[in-house]
Amino acid sequence: MAWFLFCPKKNGDTGPRLEFILVFHPGWLGSDTVNREINMALKYVQEYRDGDLARQLIAAIERIHGKELRLMEVCGTHTMSIFRHGIPSVLPDTIKLLTGPGCPVCVTSQRDIDTFVALAMEPGVILTTFGDLMRVPGTHASLQQEKAQGRDVRVVYSAFDAVKLAAENPQQQVVFCAVGFETTTPTVAASILAAKQQGITNFSIHCAHKLTPPALAALMETPGVDIDGFLLPGHVSVITGTSAYIPVFDQYRIPAVIAGFEPVDILKAILMLVKQNASGVPALENAYPRAVSDQGNPKALAIMDQVFETADTVWRGIGMIPASGLVLRPDFASFNALEKFDIQACDAPEPAGCACGEILMGLKTPDQCKLYKKRCTPMHPVGPCMVSSEGACAAFYRYN
Ligand code: SF4
Repeated sequence: MAWFLFCPKKNGDTGPRLEFILVFHPGWLGSDTVNREINMALKYVQEYRDGDLARQLIAAIERIHGKELRLMEVCGTHTMSIFRHGIPSVLPDTIKLLTGPGCPVCVTSQRDIDTFVALAMEPGVILTTFGDLMRVPGTHASLQQEKAQGRDVRVVYSAFDAVKLAAENPQQQVVFCAVGFETTTPTVAASILAAKQQGITNFSIHCAHKLTPPALAALMETPGVDIDGFLLPGHVSVITGTSAYIPVFDQYRIPAVIAGFEPVDILKAILMLVKQNASGVPALENAYPRAVSDQGNPKALAIMDQVFETADTVWRGIGMIPASGLVLRPDFASFNALEKFDIQACDAPEPAGCACGEILMGLKTPDQCKLYKKRCTPMHPVGPCMVSSEGACAAFYRYN
C-alpha cells in the first residue's frame, strides 16, 4: 500500500516536497522478519534509491527464490534503469532479466522506417520526428542521412511542435512520425484534435503507434519464447490502468507485476514475481500504485479512442500482431500522410545479421548478436536496438 502527498515548502527546501509513504504488504516479502525490516516509511523520492532498502529486497529475493527464472520487462525506460543501476549484477545468477518489445523505436518495422524516409523525400515536406528515430537505418538511408542530403527533417519534442510548425509554414506540408505506445499516443491524438479545431490542413502523421497488451499475448504464443513473468511497463500502465492486462493474464495465467522505474521499485516488483513463482500462484499485481490505478487515465484513453481505432500491425522481429496497432478513424483521414502522398509502403527485410527481433522476444541477448561491438556500435548502428537510447543493445553497450 502506498500514499503520496505534496507538502508545502519547509525551511531549506528549494520547492514543494513530494513525500511518499510506502508500506509493503507482508505477502510481497514472504516473511515477517523481512517485512519488519522493510516495513518503513519512504519519505522522499531519493529513498527509492536507498541502498539499505535495496539490499534488504535483494536478500528477500535470494531467500525466496528457488528455480531458474526468466523475467521480461516490456518497457524501454525499464531497460535503461535496470542496466543503469546494475540490477542484473545484484540478482542471483539464476534470475535472468530479458528485454522485451518495449522500446518504441526498436519495435517500429523496417517498412515504417522506410516510409518515414520516403515522406522526407517528398518535395515541400517538413518531416518532424522524435530524435531517436533520426539514426535508425532504413533500407537505403536514415532520416539523418536524408537531412544531410538537404531534406527538411526536424527533431521535435512533441506532436504539438509539429502542429505549430504547420501553422507557421502554411505553404508546406508538415508530417509527424508517430511512433510509440499508449504513453505517447494520447498527445498525438490531442495534437490532431487541436489541428482540426484550428483548421490546420497542412499537418499529417504517419501512424506507427502500437499497443502493449497484444504484444504480450503474441510473445506467449511464439514458439521458443520462454518467460516466467512480466515486469509490466509503468508509463504505459499510467494510461491504460491495471485492467488493460486482465484479458492477457486470464488467458495465460503468467505472473505479471507493474513496476515503477527506481531501483527499489524494480527490485520490489522482481521480488513479487519471484514470490508468485515460488508459490505457484500467478497474479496480476501493481507495484507502482503511486502512479497507476486500476482504470488508468480515462481522459487520455477517451482522446485516443476518439482519434484512433485498432488495426493489425507489424512489429520488428515479431511480425504481424492482430489488433496491436492504431490507425486514424475515418473522420480524421485527412491527417493521414499516406492519403496525401503517393507513397508505396513496401515490406522490407531487417538489416542482415541484426538480431533485434530475437532480442525483443527474449530469445537472445545483445552480446549473442554476431555484429555486436564489431560492425554495430552506437557510432555506427546496424539496427534500432543500438540507436535508441532505450534500446537493449545501446543499454548493454553502455552499462554492461
Ligand atoms: Fe542489431 Fe546491432 Fe543489436 Fe546486433 S548489436 S541486434 S546488429 S542493433
